[in-house]
Amino acid sequence: MTNTTAVKTALVTGASRGIGAAIALRLAKDGFYVYVNYTSNEAKAREVLDQISAAGGSGELCRFDVSDSTQVDEKIAAIGKTKAPLSVLVNNAGITVDSLLIRMKDEDLEKTLSVDLKGAIYCTRAAAIQMMRQRSGSIIQISSVVGESGNPGQAAYSAAKAGLIGFTKSVAKELASRQVRVNVVTPGFIATDMTGALTEPQKEAILRSVPLGFFGAPDDIACVASFLASSASRYITGQVIGVNGGMYM
Ligand code: NAD
Repeated sequence: MTNTTAVKTALVTGASRGIGAAIALRLAKDGFYVYVNYTSNEAKAREVLDQISAAGGSGELCRFDVSDSTQVDEKIAAIGKTKAPLSVLVNNAGITVDSLLIRMKDEDLEKTLSVDLKGAIYCTRAAAIQMMRQRSGSIIQISSVVGESGNPGQAAYSAAKAGLIGFTKSVAKELASRQVRVNVVTPGFIATDMTGALTEPQKEAILRSVPLGFFGAPDDIACVASFLASSASRYITGQVIGVNGGMYM
């Protein structure tokens, strides 16, 4: 085996905070060389890299906007040429611009679909080229429980997150013969900056819909991503794995 194939690399998009940061740290602990993707907050991304180093792992910062296909293609191709072809891609970057359907602005719909759906598609396409050549790889989409259940006020976000599920099932079938697996994780309510924007009454209402009776933590998602990134999940592809405290069954 050559040096280039000995290194296992993972790219986590939107990894400067929240669920993405937890996944990046976890994959680094699993032995992956982790590319910590971010768009604007370099200081926060660097903190994640420092945590990775402190835990004995290694990686580097990787700045690009997932909704810009030119940047995505350039950065992911460069990753494949420098260290080693990507072994794992986690499409975690996401935004939510909530509004009721009849008040939905075109630009908010466009932005949500561009980041949450098209961004994941661009990254998957760019990573798949390397993974297919390698005849191995794991792609993990971070969707959402609302892509399965729906949620009033989140029609655009739900459409993007549900779109990821259909996309994943098609791509899982396309890539399976090359041993590239593609799966979706659908988090329920996870305490991060994204959900921190909700009001206390909103949080209480959500909590009433969680049978396990508590909100998840970023590590609850990172554990599942770690499993899907590993060979322990070698027979799992095209699946949707809910991590939601029983909120949706
Ligand atoms: P967060 O807002 O803390 O993190 C999202 C990250 O994505 C940020 O670091 C942000 O900078 C990055 N990002 C946004 N646009 C980007 C772009 N164009 N290019 C690259 N990076 C970009 O949110 P989080 O709660 O950690 O969510 C992570 C993922 O999990 C998202 O896809 C979100 O939709 C999903 N999710 C979260 C929850 C939850 O309860 N927190 C529930 C279901 C799904």
